[in-house]
Amino acid sequence: MANHPHYVGRFAPSPTGPLHFGSLVAALGSYLDAKSADGQWLIRVEDLDPPRSLPGADRHILKQLADHSLVSDQPVSYQSQRLHRFDEALSMLQTKGHLYSCTCPRRAYLGLYPGTCRTRRPPFRQPAALRFRVRETTIQQTDIAQGAVTWTYGQDFGDFIVHRKDGLHAYQLAVVVDDIAQKVTRIVRGADLLNATPMQNCLFRAFGAQPPETLHLPMVLGRDGQKLSKQAHAPRINAETPAGNLNQALAFLNQPIIASENPKTILDAAIKNWRTDRIPKLIGKTQ
Ligand code: GLU
Ligand code: ZN
Repeated sequence: MANHPHYVGRFAPSPTGPLHFGSLVAALGSYLDAKSADGQWLIRVEDLDPPRSLPGADRHILKQLADHSLVSDQPVSYQSQRLHRFDEALSMLQTKGHLYSCTCPRRAYLGLYPGTCRTRRPPFRQPAALRFRVRETTIQQTDIAQGAVTWTYGQDFGDFIVHRKDGLHAYQLAVVVDDIAQKVTRIVRGADLLNATPMQNCLFRAFGAQPPETLHLPMVLGRDGQKLSKQAHAPRINAETPAGNLNQALAFLNQPIIASENPKTILDAAIKNWRTDRIPKLIGKTQ
């Protein structure tokens, strides 16, 4: 199905702990989608947040992926080495009037930010975050797995932080700058990030880029009904059973399983079998 000759996809783990089953599903889904379109598949380590990054977790994740025959088509990139690019991107947004300073305490707006600082002068020399001033009223996206989604500004999303008060670049900014730099054409990731799409689409357009296609995979829930997450110490995948792990992830994505003990053989067959219309919507089965 070489219908997308310039397809570039990526898997972008944050090195906050070893891969768990949910992150293997995202890695596998993004890999199969790229490879079935004859595309490139990149791995990008999103180590933007030093306090949350775990030393050595990046190498551990890359080893876990390699054990499943999941290897990047280009040298693995690290966001921590691209801070100057994120700064340049911020200056560009600043110059074009897309940003404003926000001194609100973070805890005051854990939900939707109401735009309090849009029109107020920032108090002198107080540490401030930089927020993106959203100008669009609705954002629409036809997600390949989830279908048509519409988000309304002020209801589903608000002005969002691109540079944090503590001096760190925000995920939303870095992910878009890197997706543009790496010419990513389709984003395949977990549905927990579906609602990041409207914010990221605003940024893509502010940078003069077309937002990529998206495919949000169902979330893997633990027995407690919560999303598996590295921070919540979801169990790491079993290093002894890569073939079994891949088949479990294929089954989760509602793709045929492959009777083989060899990860590469499984991947090659799964590429041929890959069908996005079989992928279940938002909430996946419990692991
Ligand atoms: N680094 C993000 C995470 O691990 C994923 C970013 C993305 O795929 O857009 O949750
Ligand atoms: Zn504010």
